[in-house]
Amino acid sequence: MVRSAPDRYHEIRDAVRALCAQFPDSYHREIDAQRGYPEAFVAALTSAGWLAALIPQEYGGSGLGLAEASVVMEEINRSGGNAGACHGQMYNMGTLLRHGSEAQKRFYLPKIASGEWRLQSMGVTEPSSGTDTTKIRTTATRRGDRWVVNGQKVWISRVQHSDWMILLARTTPLADVKKKTEGMSIFMVDLRAAEQGGMTVRPIANMVNHETNELFFENLEIPAENLIGEEGRGFRYILDGLNAERTLIAAECIGDGRWFIDRVTAYAGERVVFGRPIGQNQGVQFPIAEAHIEIEAADLMRFKACALFDAHEPCGAEANMAKYLAAKASWQAADACLQFHGGFGFAHEYDVERKFRETRLYQVAPISTNLILSYVAEHVLGLPRSF
Ligand SMILES: Cc1cc2nc3c(=O)[nH]c(=O)nc-3n(C[C@H](O)[C@H](O)[C@H](O)COP(=O)(O)OP(=O)(O)OC[C@H]3O[C@@H](n4cnc5c(N)ncnc54)[C@H](O)[C@@H]3O)c2cc1C
Repeated sequence: MVRSAPDRYHEIRDAVRALCAQFPDSYHREIDAQRGYPEAFVAALTSAGWLAALIPQEYGGSGLGLAEASVVMEEINRSGGNAGACHGQMYNMGTLLRHGSEAQKRFYLPKIASGEWRLQSMGVTEPSSGTDTTKIRTTATRRGDRWVVNGQKVWISRVQHSDWMILLARTTPLADVKKKTEGMSIFMVDLRAAEQGGMTVRPIANMVNHETNELFFENLEIPAENLIGEEGRGFRYILDGLNAERTLIAAECIGDGRWFIDRVTAYAGERVVFGRPIGQNQGVQFPIAEAHIEIEAADLMRFKACALFDAHEPCGAEANMAKYLAAKASWQAADACLQFHGGFGFAHEYDVERKFRETRLYQVAPISTNLILSYVAEHVLGLPRSF
């Protein structure tokens, strides 16, 4: 394994690595081949308390910061696993924690912390609006003590392995609000109850082993008390939570990147062609060294974003930049790793092609690279708005 300087998180790293070591490459490979869900792995992470890292102690979690939580995610990916199966449980509850009422926090958080309930899903994206979230068409209309939801979502992950979902819906028509970001609200949706009346789930087969779905809502009724925070301010609440999501996913990419560098350096040191290890050729060394440098640089931005988030300072720019740098670096490392494994990179038993597919996702989701560039250009640098 490539040596990194010991940091102050070494105890967390060692503990997560020890847990992950119980789930070798073959475990993740088989789950991937079966398009299954790593239930035993997620259960082990849950019972060890790692997925409740960000939940304050008074609600049953361990009350750690985003930096520690990001190290947990990084180590899962660095060990050959894929935190994408369970990262929602780590950050979705942040919306509830920051904007829910005390009664809501007391109702949901202890059960999420213990793992009795999974809050792994967040329903934002829609087929017709895509990244342009303010144009969502799913509506929630108040009728007495219920909200009635109609519309459609797409790419909603982990619905079949979650008990609850945070749903973003329009509660005031776009035409009736002053700012397009107003008039949307967020709700807690009891997924199993919803499937019994008003919500249809259609799985989307995709390139990675990532459980994701189309959702159709037809007069789905949600109790009024499931509204989080104030009606009409849901878009702002969702944006708040996205900084944690982006920083944690940056850490996952860093974990992936380090896994690729570990594998490719080991392979390039051993594989002998033309009478010498392939890693002795500078044409092989340089792309690997370059990817390593990019990963280390992304890591600094990840910890900058974490420090700001944990200090309750604005961190939108840093969270986005960390995700941008890390997703790019892990892809660069993935490409070098696949390339220098030659034909063997394509064989399932080396796990390179699996991790290659998994890490590619993060330049598209949860936010595409272009949208990060647009955010930095317009919101950080003040260039004229393009939309
Ligand atoms: C496996 C997977 C899991 C997902 N899980 C979830 C989930 O759990 N919950 C959820 O709500 N969503 C989820 N998503 C959706 C994801 O967040 C979106 O796919 C992503 O935000 C991009 O939106 P889109 O697919 O509609 O692309 P579009 O908005 O159609 O954009 C397509 C591409 O066009 C480019 N583009 C678009 N607009 C601009 C612009 N103004 N300037 C420059 N370039 C632009 C970008 O490169 C973008 O990648 C998931 C997606 C995938 C693939």
